[in-house]
Amino acid sequence: MHVGVLAFHGDFAEHMEILQSLGAACSEVRTLADLQTCTHLIIPGGESTVMAKFLWESGVGEKIQERVRDGSLAVYGTCAGAILVAEDVTGKNAPKSLQLIDIAVDRNAYGAQIDSFETSLQIKDSKNPISVSFIRAPKITRVGNGVEVLSSYQNDPVLVKSEKVLAGTFHPEMRNEKAIHQLFLKD
Ligand code: GLN
Repeated sequence: MHVGVLAFHGDFAEHMEILQSLGAACSEVRTLADLQTCTHLIIPGGESTVMAKFLWESGVGEKIQERVRDGSLAVYGTCAGAILVAEDVTGKNAPKSLQLIDIAVDRNAYGAQIDSFETSLQIKDSKNPISVSFIRAPKITRVGNGVEVLSSYQNDPVLVKSEKVLAGTFHPEMRNEKAIHQLFLKD
């Protein structure tokens, strides 16, 4: 197992810290060569429009799609990363996404930066609730067949999974919560 963290932009350093504290072999991913050794990839929070530009310009985007299709790569997209893995994206300036999981997301659906908030979430099959931050988060507005909802907030799904793709609209890494990373690394 080798975990890559997409490191074009966003809060990749916090994810690297969590992975290191869990003892996982991990490295930052910016090029096709960096991606080659990875069995797992985290797409962090940040600006999905900025990350989409780098993904498509570098060829890393197409390679991620190919590796997920052939079953050799698991992906966890968080916040902007959840936008990038979604099948459909709505909202202003919606970026071209990777379409790795059959969900629709609405960008910035909770409002502006000032509407960001912290809360605790119960995750399916896990004992204790975890503390997370929603920062200009997207909302998951449609969940396709075969997509499992692992956590909800006020009746909206916020953590979903389909085969090897996990998407969460919140940041667990801001509060140093490791449960979602552990769940992701089980695959
Ligand atoms: N609103 C951002 C976007 O659409 C996501 C914010 C985040 O990742 N915290 O890209």
